[in-house]
Amino acid sequence: EAKARGRNRASLFDNSMTQEASALLQIEQGLRQVLQTRQLRLHWQPMVRLADGAIIGAEALLRWHHPKLGEIGPQRFIPVAESCGLICAIGSWVLEQACGQLAEWRAAGLLLPRIAVNVSVRQFEQQDLLGQVRELLRRHALPPDCLELEVTESLFAQAAQLRGVLQQLRALGVRIALDDFGTGFSSLGQLTALPLDRLKIDRSFVAELGHSNDAAAVVLAVVTLARSLGLAVIAEGVETEAQREHLRELGVEEAQGWLYHRALSAAAITALLDARGGRLQLPPKAL
Ligand code: C2E
Ligand code: MG
Ligand code: MG
Ligand code: MG
Repeated sequence: EAKARGRNRASLFDNSMTQEASALLQIEQGLRQVLQTRQLRLHWQPMVRLADGAIIGAEALLRWHHPKLGEIGPQRFIPVAESCGLICAIGSWVLEQACGQLAEWRAAGLLLPRIAVNVSVRQFEQQDLLGQVRELLRRHALPPDCLELEVTESLFAQAAQLRGVLQQLRALGVRIALDDFGTGFSSLGQLTALPLDRLKIDRSFVAELGHSNDAAAVVLAVVTLARSLGLAVIAEGVETEAQREHLRELGVEEAQGWLYHRALSAAAITALLDARGGRLQLPPKAL
């Protein structure tokens, strides 16, 4: 009987592996046409200043509506796009759309101080990211410091080769933020190996605030470290007022999360900026 159960489990397992494999295949096939078929769009999550809730930026987050599978989250398809080499074309599309949208907002007199765009490490490795960004800023007449590129700690593995590209991007005036900070494998020492402007505290630490003293200790350590390295800090995934208060007490100045806004369509952002127009202010230069 135990054997039969074992066999059952094994076949269940096989079955779900097969399903997963075919889902991945569908995703990969879908991704090959995703740009031509206009199934991708960007949503935007506002970034706020904790002191007064003013909108000081927005992060572009990719959304995919698959004709058969429905909404597929980036967590699911970005890794597939990275492994099958489609991430560069998709990443270029994202940068183009994001800069175009920012130019549109600016042309409409809506002053959004900065946008953040997630960039895969593959885009640094496999394309002329610097040339592309330079061209986009020029074409859309955008001040370089309006654009922040979000990179992850996986970049540290290639630190030596990519350091030059990052430095040139920063020389151009573009900002670099380290996303999901604290979840990767980088050591603190590595932080000084790459030119960065901002640390983005991962939402797993924010979620633990109030439940664990360790999380508060980590956030405080990040803030202290950032100050001493001259980096700004933003917290992601703020969902409750208690978390917001905690973050403020710990000295974090900027945040994003569902407590403030979910990721919204560009039209919803336009409406939000319009309604808030009078309160829009440029962010403080640095921490
Ligand atoms: P991320 O850059 O760390 O983005 C934050 C994620 O947290 C987003 O998920 C956002 O919708 C979600 N989020 C924001 N506030 C809250 C909150 O208060 N609570 C909770 N539980 N979640 C919150 P999303 O949009 O599913 O994106 C997931 C990841 O996919 C992103 O993580 C980013 O790594 C990647 N991604 C998204 N767009 C792009 C893109 O254009 N290019 C690349 N390379 N990666 C992207
Ligand atoms: Mg991000
Ligand atoms: Mg993040
Ligand atoms: Mg994260």
